[in-house]
Amino acid sequence: MGDTGVRMCKRCGSFVELEKDEELKKEYPYYCPRCDENMYSFETVVVKDKGRRRT
Ligand SMILES: [Zn+2]
Repeated sequence: MGDTGVRMCKRCGSFVELEKDEELKKEYPYYCPRCDENMYSFETVVVKDKGRRRT
């Protein structure tokens, strides 16, 4: 299952990061640096890449 594109926090619109902590990511796969909170996947929204960004 390709989940390409980036994810944004539904609350603040910032890009979220993948949680790296083994324990945390079982429940919260994402982390929003702006809210400083871990996120469930349903708290994020996938933004498909419209153009190609290759930088
Ligand atoms: Zn956020």
